[in-house]
Amino acid sequence: MKGQKALMHNIAENINRLMADLHREVTVVAVTKTRTPEEALEAYNAGLRIFGENRVQELASKKALLPLDITWHLIGHLQSNKVKQAVAAASVIESVDSVRLLRIIDNEAAAQGKVTDCLLQIHIAEEETKTGFSLAEATETDWGMIAASLRSARICGVMGIASFTGDMVTVRNEFKTLAGLFRQMRERYFARCSHFREISMGMSGDWQVAVEEGSTIIRVGTLIFGERIKK
Ligand SMILES: *Cc1c(COP(=O)(O)O)cnc(C)c1O
Repeated sequence: MKGQKALMHNIAENINRLMADLHREVTVVAVTKTRTPEEALEAYNAGLRIFGENRVQELASKKALLPLDITWHLIGHLQSNKVKQAVAAASVIESVDSVRLLRIIDNEAAAQGKVTDCLLQIHIAEEETKTGFSLAEATETDWGMIAASLRSARICGVMGIASFTGDMVTVRNEFKTLAGLFRQMRERYFARCSHFREISMGMSGDWQVAVEEGSTIIRVGTLIFGERIKK
């Protein structure tokens, strides 16, 4: 498609357009997976400072090549044997999908003498393949007790991926569900916790709906860099 080809060559322009359309309080994570360091640097030069990768190895190797003042978010499933590398390279792990993983991150962050901000990934989509806590699990867990037992991992909010569908009614309902869960958790367990404040939802195809439903972080790849070449 002509439009998409044009997109690929105008990273700065795409970012400017997005920022003009976006409320200033919403954080943009530029998702650089499959992109070259040069493309990522273009996004950096256009003003973005928060980048996301879904694989630890790709995050670490890109981080090593790019400016030091970039904040890196891990947004993909994290295996426990890669936690050490994830904690070393990422400031925020958005894809915490079990309490066990949260505790491993906590131990590793303590060992490395740092604080790792974590988001709890919640399964809100229809597809079964997407990882995360089920709504039932998230609702039944005593997050207050868990948060109190952590030393170096901080629970900063929730993350979710909506169904892969053009049906924006479904997508909006999923975002509403996630925002509702966030508010309930904040009220019950994090009322005195100022860092529990993030709802990471919205990608290239649905960020506007997500922001309307209260998103504080959007994770955008295609809209900035163009279509990903499928491997
Ligand atoms: C790839 C990815 C994104 C970005 O997707 P786009 O549709 O390219 O904006 C956002 N979040 C997660 C978890 C991803 O894996």
